[in-house]
Amino acid sequence: MSRPETKHDGLIVPPPATPSRSVSIFGATGSVGTSTLDLIRLNPSAYRIVALTANSDAEGLARLAREFSAEVAVIGDPARHDALVAALEGSGTRAWSGPQALLDAADLDADWTMAAIVGCAGLAPIMRSLLRGRSVALANKEALVSSGALMIEAARSSGATLLPVDSEHNAIFQCLAGASYDHVESITLTASGGPFRTWTHDQMRAARPDQAVAHPNWSMGAKISVDSATMFNKGLELIEAHHLFPVGLDAIRILVHPQSVIHSMVEYRDRSTLAQLGSPDMKIPIASALAWPQRIPTQCLPLDLATIGQLTFEPLDDVRFPGPGICRAAIAAGGGAPAILNAANEIAVAAFLAGEIGFLDIATIVSLVLAGYSPAEPQCLQDVLAIDSEARACATAAIRTRN
Ligand code: NAD
Ligand code: MG
Repeated sequence: MSRPETKHDGLIVPPPATPSRSVSIFGATGSVGTSTLDLIRLNPSAYRIVALTANSDAEGLARLAREFSAEVAVIGDPARHDALVAALEGSGTRAWSGPQALLDAADLDADWTMAAIVGCAGLAPIMRSLLRGRSVALANKEALVSSGALMIEAARSSGATLLPVDSEHNAIFQCLAGASYDHVESITLTASGGPFRTWTHDQMRAARPDQAVAHPNWSMGAKISVDSATMFNKGLELIEAHHLFPVGLDAIRILVHPQSVIHSMVEYRDRSTLAQLGSPDMKIPIASALAWPQRIPTQCLPLDLATIGQLTFEPLDDVRFPGPGICRAAIAAGGGAPAILNAANEIAVAAFLAGEIGFLDIATIVSLVLAGYSPAEPQCLQDVLAIDSEARACATAAIRTRN
């Protein structure tokens, strides 16, 4: 049915203008990166691709760069430079490599940048984009967890726009719709509970990497999938929310909601609660950030509540899932604790995926490293990177000692 044509001041919704933007995607070959490119494929003439980046998959990156006529393709691993040059031959796309090239790519003029590198490795390019005053769609939660107030200050001082992409934070962003934080009573982050929500402690002790990455609702990269299984993901998201939405740590709660239909909620002080709902498909929050403040169509499944039938909720079991509590304590402790926590978790997750430690050892390693030392509040990006690399060394040593 077509919409009524009658104009009515104050009620009429302007037709969505087709956004036309220049776009860079950091982490273009990953789960979030390829979902972003899938959305761009739906209307390619509306976008000009400036830079695409990847860590080591030179051939995959070159394929995307050719398809989207990217100006520049950047491979993080310098050892893959020649492979990228060869794969791009005759394409017109420039081939850059190495960590400095990621920063140079962030210097290029792009209206909108997707930050979808996994881990603290994505922090420096994000900071560079923000300091240039760009619009940055933030998927890379580890970068915000590690740098915290420094990233928010970089965005504020340059007038950059930080658009949350993590489904929970994008949901909160939509529910806030620019409202004053003075009116907000609480924020509830929903959590699916991951693949081990109903597992016993003993079952979790024996969990294998292939079981941990088999998320019941979402299809994601390996690292965030393991974080979802330990529920450190929800803890990292708690820290992320604390920085993005300054309502106070105590006002941010976690609620397990196994269907992943409600992506998060904002309760206002009049006790009105707004929630954002949708199919568990990252293309929905990515599309919201890509088109913001407009809306674009996606090919995502519509939400069919009659078929879903029931939405259920349960409290977090913080005995089987200590991750969120460890994260809450780290942000409350302040200083360099969140950066240490993030680095230790990245190393522990990689060790678990490599079969070097057990599933429950992840939280043990993170706690051990956090208890080891407490550096002062980082004052600049270099401080964060120094804390990150020291914590990685400590976590690696703790794993070696344990084994
Ligand atoms: P992924 O592993 O699928 O992709 C990661 C991307 O980063 C790849 O393009 C890879 O080449 C690149 N990369 C990895 N290490 C790098 C390095 N050292 N230097 C340069 N590039 C590097 O990860 P993902 O699932 O797409 O997640 C990306 C980020 O988005 C993570 O921070 C994750 O927590 C966040 N996120 C993901 C989802 C999801 O559904 N996948 C949802 C919410 C948030
Ligand atoms: Mg999330």
